[in-house]
Amino acid sequence: SANDLKQLLFNINHKSYPAYKSARGAYQFPNYILSIDHVQGDPFAAPSRVSIHVTGKTAAFPPSLYDTYEKRIALQDYLLRQFARAIAPYSFRAKGSGKSGLLGVSRCGQEILERTACVFNAANGSLVLNMEIGFPANGRTIAAQELIRILFDFLPGCVEKSLFYHSLNPKTCAAVAALSEDQQAIRQQLKEKHLTAFVADGAILPRETGVSDLPMKHAVPFSSPDTLRVTLDLPNHGPISGMGIPLGVTLIVGGGFHGKSTLLQALEMGVYNHIAGDGREYVITDASAVKLRSEDSRNISNVDISLFIHDLPGKSDTTAFSTADASGSTSQAANVIEGMESGTGLFLIDEDTSATNFMVRDELMQRVVADSEEPITPFISRVRDLYEKLEISSILVAGSSGSYFHVADTVIQMKEYIPHDITERAKAIAAEFPPFTASVRPFALPSFQRHPLPDKVLTGSDRTKVKVMGQESILVNKSLTDLRAVEQLTDSEQLSGLAALLLEAAERAMDGKKTLIQVVDLLEKEMDEKGLSTFLAPGRPGDLARPRRQEIFACLNRCRNLKFR
Ligand code: ADP
Ligand code: MG
Repeated sequence: SANDLKQLLFNINHKSYPAYKSARGAYQFPNYILSIDHVQGDPFAAPSRVSIHVTGKTAAFPPSLYDTYEKRIALQDYLLRQFARAIAPYSFRAKGSGKSGLLGVSRCGQEILERTACVFNAANGSLVLNMEIGFPANGRTIAAQELIRILFDFLPGCVEKSLFYHSLNPKTCAAVAALSEDQQAIRQQLKEKHLTAFVADGAILPRETGVSDLPMKHAVPFSSPDTLRVTLDLPNHGPISGMGIPLGVTLIVGGGFHGKSTLLQALEMGVYNHIAGDGREYVITDASAVKLRSEDSRNISNVDISLFIHDLPGKSDTTAFSTADASGSTSQAANVIEGMESGTGLFLIDEDTSATNFMVRDELMQRVVADSEEPITPFISRVRDLYEKLEISSILVAGSSGSYFHVADTVIQMKEYIPHDITERAKAIAAEFPPFTASVRPFALPSFQRHPLPDKVLTGSDRTKVKVMGQESILVNKSLTDLRAVEQLTDSEQLSGLAALLLEAAERAMDGKKTLIQVVDLLEKEMDEKGLSTFLAPGRPGDLARPRRQEIFACLNRCRNLKFR
């Protein structure tokens, strides 16, 4: 019980730091179980891991707040934010050495993600919250009275205030569930109405600064053009109007600084649900959307990029293309094929970050350099087939090349941050210009028969070392995977999740018999059935967020120690 813990802490007071290890275990407090799961080795090491377990009876959340997957994730997210707020006053370091008295819990950004930091059990309404506590010391001597103060005087109030339904504002809790239901309803109605994205009137798309993800103050609110305006009926919000982007090929044009990239970035993040007050609560994109960009120097292992690249000088086979150092166009080609392999229904492309020669070739260049001498089939020659044959839509920002007018179904012009539907006018003018034509090979579905085979770096040792560098890269043992170009990652905990999944994938792929698709299917099935927490392992980064299927593919495809055959 809690008293045993108190007694134990009294007994080890002033002893040398490792004596804290004896505190490991679970202790019944009046309203919850406190579990000391992992004790740091010294005051300067990563803080100790502690979890709080509340029964369904005590937490007492009405099932209407968690009876769907989406609502449960939104509730977990909300509770985590409330708990973070509750412990914030203590976030100064208690006096002591190293990380003494440091209290930490996952920091949530603007997106609502499934995280292991707070897990709600829908079967019985119980919940677990994981946190970090720097066990206090003076030098290397245990300062137990400080830990007693944290665990017995401070934490119980935080738990009660933030994790029990009766102390939370019921209206706010209901609003969290209602928003989640509405966001889910928009995703559903996108399908029914043959749309690929929805941007509500009044939405605030730009962010405060390059480093702050908060809404820009005094921004021009979004306002849809009449011809693209749709009204959706949401269960809680009621009718909501906004711009519906139809399936097919959509072009976003406009002068520089008129808000094209800002709109596209909002669509990129529309694969996630956003919290109330974000400005993008009702900006919803096909959840499988993949942002495509060029990515110089990435590695590519056995990808069939022949749809876009063929007859490379030096005769490397582009139906099974590998390189440790891709060019702009080959990297973007691989990104398309890998996106298709991940099952995407929508590509998002900004010319700002695309390889020019991958997007289009101008007529003059075509006349000087014959098609037969050009190994690249530009995206413009495939974008219609992608939609008509595979139902993959594309939304492209193209402010400088008019060639795409011919292949677009919808053309949107951004003017001072407001979209205008200029499809008819653009098509009429484009009719006076010859369309881009090139003699290209017939469209053929690439082969996805790729079998990942991990090398020893990933599977060899049983003492795995994992390190996550923000949102940039993951280091698993000595294998570094660069994820900087995977722009739809939005939280470093997703990278922790990817690191864990990479190790699991390596284990499942060891026999070399499964395709990449089969390996990812297995991992996703396991996450669906047992929850993300099954991939938490000792000695690895603490908390994970669940990455989308698309980012799992992106990560496995970029790992230099996973070779594909
Ligand atoms: P483009 O891609 O068309 O060149 P951007 O999307 O990069 O333009 O936007 C240019 C600038 O305008 C950015 O600094 C952005 O923050 C700002 N901006 C974008 N949308 C809005 C808006 N709705 N209200 C106010 N400022 C905006
Ligand atoms: Mg731009």
